[in-house]
Amino acid sequence: MKIGFIGLGIMGKPMAKNLVKAGYEVIVADKFAPKNVEEVVAAGAKAAASNMDVGSQVDVLITMVPNSPNVKEALFGEDGAAKTLKKGAVVLDCSSINPIASREIAAELAKLGIDMLDCPVSGGEPKAIDGTLAFMVGGRQDLFDEYKPILDKMGSSVVLCGDVGAGNVTKLCNQTIVAVNIAALAEAMQMGQMCGVEPEKIFNAIKGGLAGSTVMNAKAPMMMDQNFKPGFRIDLHIKDLSNVVDAAKTVDAPIPLTQMVLEMMKVLHHDGDGSCDHSALLKYYQKLTGETLHH
Ligand code: NAD
Repeated sequence: MKIGFIGLGIMGKPMAKNLVKAGYEVIVADKFAPKNVEEVVAAGAKAAASNMDVGSQVDVLITMVPNSPNVKEALFGEDGAAKTLKKGAVVLDCSSINPIASREIAAELAKLGIDMLDCPVSGGEPKAIDGTLAFMVGGRQDLFDEYKPILDKMGSSVVLCGDVGAGNVTKLCNQTIVAVNIAALAEAMQMGQMCGVEPEKIFNAIKGGLAGSTVMNAKAPMMMDQNFKPGFRIDLHIKDLSNVVDAAKTVDAPIPLTQMVLEMMKVLHHDGDGSCDHSALLKYYQKLTGETLHH
């Protein structure tokens, strides 16, 4: 089975490499990241000249691009892969996008006889490299059963959450929980240090209790190191929380915590920190207090 892969960024590059490692014939394109294309080709993939060139050669097309407009561009733009995909092909969109857009894209593809699953992921670059991502999938059960083996090569958890769009609804839930968690962690660590307790002691004392979390284990050391190398950029998290706001509006769901953390992230973006890891939410507190978190 030939698999096309469009979007070889922080996540797509290692995901495509894992498919090559699993023995699939993988055809890749990313017109904005030629170095990454070279790296994946060196690992055994084949480079296509364009998105349309990818579409013309494959049965399964994976997209891993930043947001809904990018997915629409990659599929339906001037160089859109959907123009050349054959009837009966399937698109596995792994990008984190607005679930409403997922449903629109699936409907457009259906008109061309192409199926789609939305399959966003959680886990970040380390798990993309290890092939242990968590996939949350939306779409038909029969498609899920047929294409899960491909996702299994890139992830350790692959869960069908409902119809098309359900994967991205679940991803939005994930992004709200992660964002609010990081903000709570930054707020508490900063407050604790200002009250005279070493941040390292706070972390070590509470990480095994109810407040402990994957977020705490990953982000507290980064905060104490002032290491904000992404990982997951503030700007991408702004995109996700903005999608939460849009999705919540359609059903009148209350999201005060999401709104608050989104505003904090926007402040950081305007201060030039949009390319920092989302653990840089700590900077919001550091700027307010003039005090830097240390070990
Ligand atoms: P990235 O910006 O590093 O990579 C995106 C790639 O898509 C870029 O290389 C870009 O050149 C390419 N691209 C954009 N439009 C294109 C087009 N029309 N045709 C071809 N290529 C195109 O982003 P990333 O961090 O890899 O994230 C990708 C998606 O995965 C996003 O939706 C993000 O929210 C999600 N995600 C990221 C992480 C993370 O930790 N980075 C974790 C989970 C989910």
